[in-house]
Amino acid sequence: MLATVSTTAALVAGTAPQAAADVHAAVVTITYSDAQAGEFVNAVAQGVAIWNASVTNVRIVKAAAGQRADVQVIADNGWPRATLGPVRPGGRGTVWMGREAVNDGYNVVRIASHEFGHILGLPDRKPGPCSSLMSGSSAGVSCTNPNPNSTERSRVQSLYAGWLAPSADVGKVLVG
Ligand SMILES: [Zn+2]
Repeated sequence: MLATVSTTAALVAGTAPQAAADVHAAVVTITYSDAQAGEFVNAVAQGVAIWNASVTNVRIVKAAAGQRADVQVIADNGWPRATLGPVRPGGRGTVWMGREAVNDGYNVVRIASHEFGHILGLPDRKPGPCSSLMSGSSAGVSCTNPNPNSTERSRVQSLYAGWLAPSADVGKVLVG
């Protein structure tokens, strides 16, 4: 009797996330790990939150402890940099939160948001104004704007619009 109850509970717990994922099947979700992000964990979380508030076709979420992440965030002593995406679920991207620019006085949240712009598929647009996120350091140390402009937002929207999560029916056995 007890065994039956716990098995049922496990099945319900196992199926609930799948049902939730189906509802938002068109939204691409990519994961990141800040395990090596050092003192930049909060800035990275803010940069990610800005992107999640700016676009709807892709969501960036922190991977659970011990889970594989699509994007690794690493603090180091170089200049900030990142691999160019768009990173897909199961893909691979890296953001280096370089201390060199932080020590020069550049805004750390703008750096994080800019580097995640690369992860989402945006190249640099240098030189450029502070209103452009991808103008990066060319906007100067005084620029603290961490938000993508409308062109940058719509570019990311298009890059992720064409990619749909595999149908839940893939791998299903159809009888008859
Ligand atoms: Zn850049």
